[in-house]
Amino acid sequence: MNRTFTIFGAGLAGTLMAVLLARRGYRVELYERRPDPRRGPSERGRSINLALSTRGIEGLKRAGLSEEVLATAIPMRGRMIHPPTANPTLTLLPYSRNPSHHINSVSRSGLNITMLNAAERHSNVRVHFGKRCLGMNLETGQAEVKDAATGATQWIETETVIAADGAFSGVRSSMQVRDRFDYSQSYLEHGYKELTIPPAPGGGWRIEKHALHIWPRGSYMMIALPNQDGSFTCTLFWPFEGPHSFASLTSREEIVGFFSEHFPDSLPLIPALADDFIHNPTASLVTVRCGPWNVGGRAVLVGDAAHAVVPFYGQGMNCSFEDCAVLDDCIASHPDDLGEAYADYAAQRKPNTDALAQLALENFVEMRDKVNDPAFVFRRRVEHAMEALFPTYTSLYEMVTFSTIPYAEAAARSAEAQRAVSALGLTREAEQRLGECAIRLAGEAASRPIEELRKDLRAAAERELGVERLAQLIRTLSTPR
Ligand SMILES: Cc1cc2nc3c(=O)[nH]c(=O)nc-3n(C[C@H](O)[C@H](O)[C@H](O)COP(=O)(O)OP(=O)(O)OC[C@H]3O[C@@H](n4cnc5c(N)ncnc54)[C@H](O)[C@@H]3O)c2cc1C
Repeated sequence: MNRTFTIFGAGLAGTLMAVLLARRGYRVELYERRPDPRRGPSERGRSINLALSTRGIEGLKRAGLSEEVLATAIPMRGRMIHPPTANPTLTLLPYSRNPSHHINSVSRSGLNITMLNAAERHSNVRVHFGKRCLGMNLETGQAEVKDAATGATQWIETETVIAADGAFSGVRSSMQVRDRFDYSQSYLEHGYKELTIPPAPGGGWRIEKHALHIWPRGSYMMIALPNQDGSFTCTLFWPFEGPHSFASLTSREEIVGFFSEHFPDSLPLIPALADDFIHNPTASLVTVRCGPWNVGGRAVLVGDAAHAVVPFYGQGMNCSFEDCAVLDDCIASHPDDLGEAYADYAAQRKPNTDALAQLALENFVEMRDKVNDPAFVFRRRVEHAMEALFPTYTSLYEMVTFSTIPYAEAAARSAEAQRAVSALGLTREAEQRLGECAIRLAGEAASRPIEELRKDLRAAAERELGVERLAQLIRTLSTPR
């Protein structure tokens, strides 16, 4: 039990892992490249808020932190779509047919501080700020650490290392030079820039608080998530280069002109637009895939160090917290053989994080483009109708965001359901009528028993599909798994 874990990276995964190990009685030495975030302003250019959902909440629950974190979170019930007009009619696309399901906007720095405080409440955790891991000798376990204040480097002894040092992990760079280590990184041609909608005069939120706002524009988009202080953080996802790109907007006039043409309703909401646009950094979006994630019991990767994904499913942090929970279980199952524990953890997680990486890339197209397409909107509603009709059917978004069904299984189940629905050859009109019926019935959900609504929906589906095709659909979607 008197084992010492060295964790590099006191970000989201590193601090959660520190708390989980400390609760099991292990000693933890936690090294963080940056200064203590509680003693200075937060870093510019990192996403300011994040969407926390079921998997992340489960990880926090395990550390006894979910209530504290959710107390300051803002529930977001759906996507609010902003068309490109000055006074648009906004449409809310609910995330789930279950009205109690929502995602939560949380402050990255607030969450990080809560978790650092939680780690430091354990006397067996020591945190070292301003210490960057440059790499490690994976034969001896010595790690090279650079002090940010003095620039001096030092080799430290480690018993076992958990690398939670993010997408550009120092520990992983040492794994990369080993034989048979697979590694790939690919950047999107889009980058992102953050902008701010300040609170309304006198306080409060200028646009709907309980939604994730999206301005979908085909090949690019802007989103906005609410903050506790009444502001929203907007993120513009746009190509780095080309005729319509960050590189093409250089003057204040061009910036304002671009927003008034493409995001006109946002213009009065972002008073510091040109200044923010010019001064805030443009950051890149990378997918990292690699393996094996561990070198025996010497070192193991978690979170973005193992699998950075693009942010379009809002799952990078949620998935990283799920990593921590699985790693915690594996260490508990093999306390005397960390090589076995790390290999077991990697075998459970890698297929799932590979599936998430793909889902996240696909969701970019859905968010920036498909949500504008009426056929997509109806298909989403038909999905909700199917969920109401077939209790065993669950949409992909629901499985990814509001369940802990492994990502790879969620992707496979969804592909199977899509094939079944396509095989029915539903016309667009039939989809639309079914969707409309589902929406009408959803409106009555509060006043009528669910079984009665289900019966009505089933009758509508029977009208649209015919008895035989409906029976076929029920057989496919209701197969117990
Ligand atoms: C724009 C954007 C929006 C996002 N939105 C969401 C969202 O809504 N929901 C969601 O679930 N996920 C989201 N993510 C993903 C999420 O931010 C990451 O998946 C998550 O932060 C991963 O946690 P981590 O601890 O592995 O890495 P990080 O949070 O990056 O933490 C790594 C830590 O290690 C430190 N470090 C780095 N190198 C070293 C070193 N060599 N030595 C010592 N310390 C080091 C860093 O300073 C940092 O503190 C988003 C990402 C981006 C870019």
